[in-house]
Amino acid sequence: MNKNESIKCTVQQCKHHSGSVDYCTLNAIQVGTHEANPTVPECTDCKSFVLK
Ligand code: SF4
Repeated sequence: MNKNESIKCTVQQCKHHSGSVDYCTLNAIQVGTHEANPTVPECTDCKSFVLK
């Protein structure tokens, strides 16, 4: 799979992860939040995640 060097990612469980190296293979991703008022990185999510 072609990695996108502009999107680093360590979520190995995602279908879009490159596998051997820590990059995403999508051309673009959607980032969002599950909080009403996000304050720390943990409040944000990759909305393009798909379980492998
Ligand atoms: S879609 Fe999101 S979670 Fe999945 S590999 Fe790409 S950046 Fe990571």
